Amino acid sequence: MSVLFEKIVKKIKKFDAKKYSYSRNYIDGEVSRLSPYISRGFISTFQVFEILKKNFSTIKEIEKFVQELAWRDYFQIIWNEKNVEVSLKENISLNEKGIPIPILNAKTSIKAIDNEILNLYKNGYMHNHFRMYIASLICNFSNCHFLTPSKWMYYYLLDGDVGSNALNWQWVSGASRNKKYYFNQENLNKYSRVLQENTFIDVDYNLLEEINPPESFTELTDFNLSCNLPNSEDFDLDNNKPLCIYNYYNTDPNWRKNIDSNRILLLEPSIFSKYPVCDKAIDFLLKLSNEIPEIKIFSGEFSELTKNFKNFIYYKQHPLNINYRGVEDSRDWLTSVKGYHPSFFSYWNKAKKELKY
Ligand SMILES: Cc1cc2nc3c(=O)[nH]c(=O)nc-3n(C[C@H](O)[C@H](O)[C@H](O)COP(=O)(O)OP(=O)(O)OC[C@H]3O[C@@H](n4cnc5c(N)ncnc54)[C@H](O)[C@@H]3O)c2cc1C
Repeated sequence: MSVLFEKIVKKIKKFDAKKYSYSRNYIDGEVSRLSPYISRGFISTFQVFEILKKNFSTIKEIEKFVQELAWRDYFQIIWNEKNVEVSLKENISLNEKGIPIPILNAKTSIKAIDNEILNLYKNGYMHNHFRMYIASLICNFSNCHFLTPSKWMYYYLLDGDVGSNALNWQWVSGASRNKKYYFNQENLNKYSRVLQENTFIDVDYNLLEEINPPESFTELTDFNLSCNLPNSEDFDLDNNKPLCIYNYYNTDPNWRKNIDSNRILLLEPSIFSKYPVCDKAIDFLLKLSNEIPEIKIFSGEFSELTKNFKNFIYYKQHPLNINYRGVEDSRDWLTSVKGYHPSFFSYWNKAKKELKY
């Protein structure tokens, strides 16, 4: 068993899911910080649920947390079916393309926001509430389209996941529903435990839609983020054994672990040029993949890796794997509920029937 996986299991067993339900929106609230492991496919939402439920006698005690795991599954199901980079709502007006420079430079004049942007750059994590605040500042206050800024955030997050990321940006900006998410300084002060006044968001809720951010927010920039992939390792595939393919979205140390196989971490430049990530995100991926015995890194395309390979190829289903050929294993899901549901609650009402215990 992977040592790191065992550590995560212990962490889940200690997790206070009851405290989570009332404190999760606060900057210092009880949140699990499991997302980097879930997004990299190191552990699944189903496994987290199965471990956690042993400590609680009914789903009621952990329902809020399980609902958040379900949000993840819900967005993954949509990503399997739709292009998440295009507004799910039809006829949405086209907003400005780019990202306000004060956001990029962490100089918005709103201290708690600037701190969390710097924290994202430094640590690759941002609390959910701050992701919502920042997406709202960019899309709703500054009238920018969600796509460019969502790529900016994805680049720095260790838990970056194109589905969760783009669809949360759509949710905040009203691209997937008939509402936009707004907040004011009072709300920010409460949940980030600061006391700042007289910022441009220091107004009543009913005035929020009318306010204009400072002039500097109209200066937008696109950014060209590049991704540094590690060099391929020196190896020859053994045609007498099957090939198990891991990638940015599958580092599951328990997947097909009992078969004797070639194990390759496949880093396709075509994927990383479309969805670049920062060096810290690559380092984190490599740390997780180190938990897979004898894995080798291949930075190149699937077709190059497999061109002379003559045995079975195994991989896990994922929307970014559509060019793979071989035996496709299912990902783990919390429930059997599938198909496009336009609202989370239409999905959740079915899913929770299967989750009840
Ligand atoms: C603008 C924006 C961008 C986001 N981008 C990403 C992203 O790239 N990758 C990502 O994994 N999450 C993303 N999220 C969702 C959420 O912010 C993170 O999953 C969460 O903050 C991770 O911290 P945690 O593990 O402590 O979460 P917890 O609150 O402990 O939740 C447990 C798990 O549930 C899932 N989850 C919780 N909230 C959400 C949500 N709103 N949507 C989908 N899954 C959720 C995550 O897998 C998380 O690890 C984004 C949210 C917003 C508003």
